[in-house]
Amino acid sequence: MGRSPHGAQATVGAMPELPEVQAHAERLTEQFGGAELERFTPLSFSVLKTVAPSPEAVFGTRLAGVGRRGKLLLLRFGDDVTFVVHLMQGGRLVPDDKQSSKPRNGMARWTFADGRALLLTEAGKERKAGVWVVNGDPLGQPPLAGLGVDADTVTRTQLDVALRAKNQRLHGFLRDQHGVAGLGRMLANEICHTARLSPFVMTSKLSGDDVDRLESAIHERIASALDHERTLDAMSKSADRPGAVHRRKGATCPVCGDEVRAVEYNAYEVDYCATCQTGGKVLADNTTSKFLK
Ligand SMILES: [Zn+2]
Repeated sequence: MGRSPHGAQATVGAMPELPEVQAHAERLTEQFGGAELERFTPLSFSVLKTVAPSPEAVFGTRLAGVGRRGKLLLLRFGDDVTFVVHLMQGGRLVPDDKQSSKPRNGMARWTFADGRALLLTEAGKERKAGVWVVNGDPLGQPPLAGLGVDADTVTRTQLDVALRAKNQRLHGFLRDQHGVAGLGRMLANEICHTARLSPFVMTSKLSGDDVDRLESAIHERIASALDHERTLDAMSKSADRPGAVHRRKGATCPVCGDEVRAVEYNAYEVDYCATCQTGGKVLADNTTSKFLK
């Protein structure tokens, strides 16, 4: 803790994005697939977001697999019950070797008949991570209803439709889960850089050529992050994820050699390279600047 110049925010702001969650779902399926659920124990008052069906309905059934939609994990049990897990900023779903009665940052525990367990933890003061238990297809139900197309499979046409749905800054569009799902602060920064687009350009101003580059950049950055993540035994910390501009303010752009710059907000920062992305224009470091318009 404390090694980051960005303070506590940086520690909590390590939200896993699509590649991290996807690789973790694959890891959990490999490690826990087929295990019989003995019980589910909420450890925090607020963690379980649904009343029906009861988690007890699937005690004694096996974990069919762990999937992903957007940045959420889907634990499928038996025929048609899914635990949807939203990690939010600081949540993690990890093998629980100790199984102590009051685990640090513990939110919920899945205990299996073979003696193993999975623990949902959440770092930081905010208790936002949650578990939804749903019957049938989870895709049309909360919290998944309304999510945009998954960013790893979005087509050029779907991307175009999503971009035209609401005129907003590109960086905000990429982070908005209703447009395309699965991207967060890091990938939004990296995708804008790879696509050579200003993070602050309005989506209505993007040309066909811009959207072509954006689509390629989305798929390229996700594929490369997923390749990295699949080499690991556990979900990476955001500081360890390879990137060209994200949280690299002051460092050298690997493409053109210019200095990476940042526009900082309370909760996050937008990192970019002026030479690659804004025609050399340096964006003023506050949210009210006329240069951001
Ligand atoms: Zn550059």
